[in-house]
Formats: sequence, structure tokens, C-alpha cells
Amino acid sequence: MKKIDKNYFPGWVRKSISFTIDDGNLEMDKKFIDIVKPYGIKGTFNISNFYFDKLSPAGYRAFYEGYEIANHCKYHPYVFDDGVEYVIKDEPRPEHAESENTVYASAGVEGLFEKEYVRGWRNITDVKNYIRFTRECTASIKEVFGAQKIGFVWPFGRQNSAELFELLKKEPFYGIRQGGETEDKTNFAIPADRYTWSFNAIHSSLLSVAEKFKNYPDDGALKTFIFGAHSIDFENAEKWCDLEKFARDFGNRPEKYWYATNVEIFDYEDAVKALTVTDEKIENPTDIAVYVTVDGEKTVIPPHTEILF
Ligand SMILES: [Zn+2]
Repeated sequence: MKKIDKNYFPGWVRKSISFTIDDGNLEMDKKFIDIVKPYGIKGTFNISNFYFDKLSPAGYRAFYEGYEIANHCKYHPYVFDDGVEYVIKDEPRPEHAESENTVYASAGVEGLFEKEYVRGWRNITDVKNYIRFTRECTASIKEVFGAQKIGFVWPFGRQNSAELFELLKKEPFYGIRQGGETEDKTNFAIPADRYTWSFNAIHSSLLSVAEKFKNYPDDGALKTFIFGAHSIDFENAEKWCDLEKFARDFGNRPEKYWYATNVEIFDYEDAVKALTVTDEKIENPTDIAVYVTVDGEKTVIPPHTEILF
């Protein structure tokens, strides 16, 4: 029997690197992309504010060329919390809300309201309209970037509505990302639950967690390092130099790392799991070329191909 090792990313490496960056802040995303792109670092931008008023569709495509676009919900709303009675006012918001759970109709958008939080006024909506806004966001992404698999990323992190979470899981999203971790807690495992997945470092922990990732010993499993969560975090914390150092130290090293978008990592993992190995052959039923070793020899199994021993 041949000894098959299936746990490799393209390039026969065990470790992959990616990022997940929220909100679609063009000015900050431009600074981010200018730093990571020359080093071949890939990832995903999660867009909430596509009103297509800043660039043309072709301009957006060129801007985010080579990256994945995910759904961060149009209007970036909260959802009404389970177990809370809201007072809905069909009028513009005053300077301060009349009570904690009074919400005010948002000008010009049916079904969208504004609620005052400690950090200021935020959009909020009910479950039905929330789903409508996610679908409008998906439609916009497909209109601008073309048909593709789309993931969802909660605005403000995972929200407190069981009904909404169940409905989102029924939408055609390949995954749902929630708020992240500042320190890796899973030994850089590829997230097992794609409906509650998250990243394993943020701007302030980027370099220290990346160092742990670099030094993490090979245990035979596929590993991933995905950092988040906003390009503006690097600006606010004056940490662009950390991103530059990360790009220099971890980019352009295909002999060590595979650089991929979020969906590419999940799709690749699925392809590895779909391989079938018998005494006679190894078969790849997927659309993705898979990198394995056969008795230690590096072998690529092309899509929809079997290799006989
Ligand atoms: Zn956001």
C-alpha cells in the first residue's frame, strides 16, 4: 500500500495565510492593499457600504482585483435583540433617544431604524428587513463582481437574535464569520464550524501571533493564519508599520506558506477531504487541483482525475 499524505496546500506547504477585512473603507483599504499586494498576501474584503457612488463598477473590480468580496450586510445594521421590546418612532431621531430601546426611522430607507448606543447612533432593523438587506448586498456584489460563492460577516460581531442566525444559515452563504480572537485559540486549525468561524489575530496582535504561527511545529494537519478585522484599525492604532513588517517577513514565501482568500482555504480543505484513496488509485472528484505526496513523492492530482498506482 502506498503511503499517501493528503494534508498539503498548493506548493506542498501545510500553512496558509489570509486576512478578513471589514467595511469596505476605500481610503484605508487602499493603504492596506498597497502594503500587502506586492508580497502576494491574499484575503477577503467584507463590504457593507456599497452604494456605488465612489467608483464605477469597473473601478471597484480593479480596486479589489485578486481578492474575495464577502457580504457584511447593506447598511451595517444591528438586529433587534431577542427578548427586547422596542419603541418604534416613525420620525427623525432627536439629539438623544427618549429611552434606551426607542428607535427612530432612518431617512429614506424603509425598514431601517437608528438606535442610540454609548458610542453613538447606529443602524438597526428587524429580522425580516435584515435578511432583505443581506440579499440586497449579495445582489450588489454579484452585479459588480460577477456570480461567485459569497460568505457573510456579521456587522458588530455575532448578534443576539436566534431567529436571524437560523435564517442566515439558510441563505446561500458558504460561511458566517463572527467577531474574532485577538490570540489564536485553536492551534491554527482551519475553522471547523463555518457558521461561527473567525480570525485568529488582529492589528495589535498581528506580529506576535504570526510569530507563533511561524514557529508552530508541523503536526501533519493543515493550518491557517487569518487576521482581521478593519484596515482603519491600523490607521487608528498607528500600526501600519506592523503590517509592513508582517508583509516583508511572511509574504512572498511560497515554499513556506500558501496565500489564499478565505473561500479558497475552505474550498481547498473540501477538495482534500473529497479525495478518495484505495490500494489501486487516488481520485480527485473536485474542480480543484490537489497537492499530495505518494511515498514521499510530490504529486498533483488535477481536477476530475484519478492516478493509478
Ligand atoms: Zn463592520
